[in-house]
Parts: sequence; C-alpha cells; structure tokens
Amino acid sequence: MSLFEVKDLTMKFGGLVAVNRVNFKIENGDILGLIGPNGSGKTTIFNIITGLYKPVFGKVFLKKENISALKPNIIVEKGIARTFQNIRLFQNMTVLENVLVGGHCKINTTSFNDLFGFNKKKEEDKAFKKVERLLSMFNLLNLKNELAKNLPYGKQRELEIARALASEPKLILLDEPAAGMNSNETKNLMKIINKLNDMGITILLVEHDMKLVMNVCERIIVLNHGAKIAEGLPRQIQNDETVIEAYLGRQVKNHS
Ligand code: ADP
Ligand code: MG
Repeated sequence: MSLFEVKDLTMKFGGLVAVNRVNFKIENGDILGLIGPNGSGKTTIFNIITGLYKPVFGKVFLKKENISALKPNIIVEKGIARTFQNIRLFQNMTVLENVLVGGHCKINTTSFNDLFGFNKKKEEDKAFKKVERLLSMFNLLNLKNELAKNLPYGKQRELEIARALASEPKLILLDEPAAGMNSNETKNLMKIINKLNDMGITILLVEHDMKLVMNVCERIIVLNHGAKIAEGLPRQIQNDETVIEAYLGRQVKNHS
C-alpha cells in the first residue's frame, strides 16, 4: 500500500489551469522529486495537499484515507508537514519558540488534566526536550534564544525544517529548500534530507538545484504547465527529451 497518493488533481485560478489531472504515488520511505519550470504548478500542489486550496477536481489520499476535504491543522495532525518557498518563520520569536509552535499539536493534555493542571508540567518538559533534540540535530541548540530574524539565511531555512519536524510528520513537503543557499549550506541540506529519510520520514522535494535533486531523489516527477510530463529514475529524467525541451535545457542555459 502506498503511503500517499494524488488522483487526477486539478486546480484552476479563473481561466488558468494551474494543475491539470496530476497523478502520483509515494511509497513509504521514498524521496520523491517534483520538478518543473516556474509556474508549472508545484507550489499549488503543495497547497492542495496541505489543505490550503480545495482542488476543483481530484483527490488526495494518505494511507488510503481521502484527506482532500480536511482543514490544514487536521492534515498536520494526520502526519503531513511542509516548509514554504518563501520562509515563513515567526521572525520576532526565538528559535526555540518557533519549533515549540510547530509541535503544539503533539502536546497531549486531556481537558480533565488541563482543568486541574495535572500533567501539564510533565508534557511541557517533554515538549522542550523534544525541541532541544531537534535543534541539536540542526546545530541550532546554541542559538535557541536568538530571534529567528537574526539567523543567517541558511539557518532560517533549517529552522523551518526543524519546525515542520516538530509535528512528527510521516511525510514532509519541502518547497525549494535550497533556494538562496550557498554551496556549503546546500551540502548540509543534502545531509539533512538523507538523515530525515534514515529516520523513516518520507519526503516530497520541490527544488531547482538539479545536483541536489539528482543526488537525493529516488524518483522524480516532472511538471509543465500544470501537467505531469514525465516520471522516472533520476537518470531516466536527465535523458528524457521532453523534459530537456521543457525544463532541463533551460536550466543549463540559465546557469551558464
Ligand atoms: P510553481 O511553484 O511551479 O512555480 P505555482 O504553483 O506557484 O508554480 O503556480 C502555478 C500557476 O498558478 C502560475 O501561473 C501562478 O501564477 C498561478 N497561481 C498560483 N497561485 C495562485 C493564486 N492563489 N491565484 C491565482 N493564480 C495562482
Ligand atoms: Mg513554487
């Protein structure tokens, strides 16, 4: 059974078909790449999966459960987390607070215990310990009391991933995590993605850095004008004429 599946996903904005009958599956433990030119519908797919947009047609399944009509907070609780193409941290909160917020849906307190204040301290301690473990994984522990806005760009991107992980996702969606990173930061990101995967987290990666995509992804899907134009192993995608024509050829030109 696939962990995750989208069937005939379709999204329109006025007359524009931003996502056009897209189908794909993600197996448990996969790292799947989702690539394509700007405007090809990648972020819109993320917005549908995470419940921000309701598709005009098609469905999203997590472990065979249709999650297409659910609210964003419920989808997070079901085990799907994401990062944003444009960093969306709470800039005036500390590093620690940003991650704590990401994990709030996992702090278990029954209303009875809430009422009497039982367990609350214990749950809070547990939450703090978890956040500190996450921060140390990203070498952010010594910066835990720093405001998010004071972190260098690459660290802000990492903090976003740490915050997404605080909800203990089964599937994480990363939207251009390497955008604006220098080569050292990108190398570190590659390590982080592999580490997440070793921890058993399934990953859907949108990214323009082809070195990163080809290195970490087991399988890749290519979009153009909202439609899937190819799917395969990195090596197959790199040699696919349609993909080179629509996207990869342009990438090489843009970077030369
Ligand atoms: P990508 O992430 O692949 O660059 P997007 O999913 O952001 O592409 O956008 C796909 C298309 O949908 C683009 O033409 C974009 O302008 C359009 N689009 C995305 N979001 C909206 C929106 N909220 N309202 C209107 N048009 C949108
Ligand atoms: Mg995008």
